[in-house]
Amino acid sequence: MIDLKEYIRDIEDFPKEGITFKDITPLLGNASAFAKAATALLELVPDVQIDKVVGIEARGFFFGTLLAEKLGAGFVPVRKPKKLPHTTIAQTYELEYGTDTLEMHVDAISKGDKVLLHDDVLATGGTAAAVIQLIEKAGGAIVQCNFLGEIAFLEGRKKLEGQEVKALFQF
Ligand code: 5GP
Repeated sequence: MIDLKEYIRDIEDFPKEGITFKDITPLLGNASAFAKAATALLELVPDVQIDKVVGIEARGFFFGTLLAEKLGAGFVPVRKPKKLPHTTIAQTYELEYGTDTLEMHVDAISKGDKVLLHDDVLATGGTAAAVIQLIEKAGGAIVQCNFLGEIAFLEGRKKLEGQEVKALFQF
């Protein structure tokens, strides 16, 4: 069994000085590691019918669409402002300096839909917490927050209280 974590490399001082970025592109670029990661992510998902997988721009799209296809669910992209063409709902959240906003199409999730939230990395949890608010505004019920990796010392899970949070790797 290959160690999938070996395909995630540290990039120092990216995107700014003092930050060590977990780069998942070696994992995406290796056919065997990519397929094994998709299967392992799927195995984290509880055995309930998922209606929608919500993936967060942009790295949440890589595995989010694969998961949706394998789960027999639709895929919903959450994007940065002014990228989605139809009417959107938006959620603004705090960053270390300033704020950021994410958007989702207003009709992407129906009331009562069972939703899997997926992103590549859980860091401080601010991004995923904002997307949880978007999904809940739309009336969706979140089954699991699913990540490839979790940067444990940043304690992002604390911002996702009340949710089932699963990650393939802890960094
Ligand atoms: P958070 O809001 O949890 O601090 O940051 C998570 C978001 O930023 C995710 O959408 C994720 O793609 C991105 N992110 C933050 N840190 C990293 C990292 O070290 N590696 C990768 N691949 N993404 C990161």
